Amino acid sequence: MSVAEIMFVVSGLLVGLAFQGGMFLFAIPFAVVAMLLGFMNRPRLAGPVAQSTATLPIISLGGRNTGNVPVVSPDLRSEFRNENGMMNEPESALKVSQVWARANADINKGMTDILRSIKGIVPQANSIIVFTQLNNPREWGVRNYVNNKESSVDPCVRISENSGLVSHLFRSGVNRILEGDLPSSKSLMYYIDHPAIKSVVAVPMLDHNGQRIGALVMDSTHPNAFTDITAQALSYVASAITMLDYKGFLSAQKHIALQQYSGLYNYQRKFFQTMTVKDIYKQIINYVRDNVAYDRLTILVMNQGKESSGNQGKDSAGRVVFCEGVDSKEFAEKRFTLSDKGIFVLALLRNRPIERNFSVGFNEYVPRLNDSEKHNTNLRQVFIMPIAAKADAESADIAICLESSGPRPYTDHEKELLKAFAGVAGFAYDRARKFEHGKEMASRDSMTGLMNKRTLFERLRAEKARATRMKYCIGVLMMDIDHFKHVNDTYGHNIGDVVINGFARTISEEIRKDIDVVGRFGGEEFVVGLIDTTAEGMVETAERIRKAIEKLVFDIHQAKPLKVTVSVGAYLVGPEFTDMEKAVQNADQALYKAKEGGRNQVVQFQEMPLETASKSVTPKPAAAPATMAPATPAPAAPTESGIPVIRAAADGPFS
Ligand code: GH3
Ligand code: MG
Ligand code: MG
Repeated sequence: MSVAEIMFVVSGLLVGLAFQGGMFLFAIPFAVVAMLLGFMNRPRLAGPVAQSTATLPIISLGGRNTGNVPVVSPDLRSEFRNENGMMNEPESALKVSQVWARANADINKGMTDILRSIKGIVPQANSIIVFTQLNNPREWGVRNYVNNKESSVDPCVRISENSGLVSHLFRSGVNRILEGDLPSSKSLMYYIDHPAIKSVVAVPMLDHNGQRIGALVMDSTHPNAFTDITAQALSYVASAITMLDYKGFLSAQKHIALQQYSGLYNYQRKFFQTMTVKDIYKQIINYVRDNVAYDRLTILVMNQGKESSGNQGKDSAGRVVFCEGVDSKEFAEKRFTLSDKGIFVLALLRNRPIERNFSVGFNEYVPRLNDSEKHNTNLRQVFIMPIAAKADAESADIAICLESSGPRPYTDHEKELLKAFAGVAGFAYDRARKFEHGKEMASRDSMTGLMNKRTLFERLRAEKARATRMKYCIGVLMMDIDHFKHVNDTYGHNIGDVVINGFARTISEEIRKDIDVVGRFGGEEFVVGLIDTTAEGMVETAERIRKAIEKLVFDIHQAKPLKVTVSVGAYLVGPEFTDMEKAVQNADQALYKAKEGGRNQVVQFQEMPLETASKSVTPKPAAAPATMAPATPAPAAPTESGIPVIRAAADGPFS
């Protein structure tokens, strides 16, 4: 068997191997090299050297469906590269760039091996060079090469249109260059030292769409060193190299996608373990930190529910829940309204991703929230991903706003990742919100919106623990509307409910919001916990509430407006007293005394000295084991200031 025949057999075996797919695809270039060796060892055909006019068929990738991805794409390689100096340098982005670097090194090694093999079997070759597309399709640079020691290829050369021999391959009509008698005056621009090149054979590298994405060039100092057959063989090598590069790129991309989507899956699992909205925010922040580089990250959230937006009115549509990075203090905790026209707000209100790429020197600032914020024109790349429970919702619930000062816009891959994440996060956020809402509902009295009895005691116990630690007192007030049965009997239950609601609202208004505690104990009885107070402070507040109720007028479309009064029992819980149920009982006993003492008054429960107390304890609950001191004298007769109906009836039966 001749060398050529052996090579053809080896090539056949390698192709057979490649049909196994997967990692065996890497056998393809070697099969091509073997085939090339076979070709090279065939008896040389004599004949004149053809000029670069003959048309070779466009090389197809053997009918494989290679997908619509550019074969050699340096821009994709740098897709995950982290811009140095970014505020957030995600750990996973670093890993991703390692994967690309590794894939690139593997591809380069394969390419170098192929070029070296050709060089070995074509001794007359001076250099063999792979040119591939740079940033635009009409510009090629050196990707890989082998050359003779005496001459040196310029690795930084750029081939663009009309810039020498190789640039002829930019034209779609030219499918090869075959020169055998270059004049010695002709120097090739890809050399630093311009050796006396006589022969050049070059073919375009084509992607599966036939797009020219580079060239494979071989030259020689010998005249007529190459033939048609060399050109043909070189086309196959070019095809093998593009295939090698493409497969290497695909497998790296697949590896990264797998890693990132399994990361997404992990977040999905984390989301399912979280039930609070706050935790969802945290997970969102963590995910973005892990996967995307930025100089500023801002998270916007819409106000939820009619109640909250109603309370805050037009002043607030939502707020910034998180901001880190450049000028983050400017944004932290900021609120925005529906009339704010910043791009962050627009993306949120319209539930649409927004991208902006401002060029250097673009000084017309585009507001993020509104025009009153600090203008920073350095943050040139902006990408905003809205998160909504339903993808087609009119407005979103959350917006992830990414900004960077780098020259590179956010990549399709980063945007896709965020989009996939937004779907998962939207669902989780909705779930957590509903759960929190349900919990909130279960802890509140549905009629007044105040805490229910269970939650009230939970809060009182928690407050008590803090009070013991910090050594301060809590004032407990037990309140009951006077002669409320009469209200129901006279005006009906609906009016009774109106009175209970008005009563609840008045109490809330008279105590310190977010400090004191108020809950509906049952029926028309309410308990207030005054945090960090004194006996005087407690009685003063109780009196204030009593008077506010006294002044309250219910317009019930009757001849006389409806008024009510309240009796209050008060008990001061000292630092050493721990049982809050007992504390409420004590306040209740004081309330009993207030009712007994004529209603519409405040009575404070007072501990008896120990020895008296032990003697006076009786099993009857009505007989209090304590003395009761009316904190205020019962109000004078009803006529005193024309206080109508109910107060007048406080001292006697209704009639
Ligand atoms: P007193 O001055 O001794 O407190 O007399 P009172 O008539 O207010 O007596 P009591 O506190 O025992 O009566 C509570 C009444 O409140 C009985 C019940 O019908 C009524 N009530 C309890 N819950 C509600 C409610 O949710 N809505 C209405 N309309 N009435 C309620
Ligand atoms: Mg009652
Ligand atoms: Mg009552």
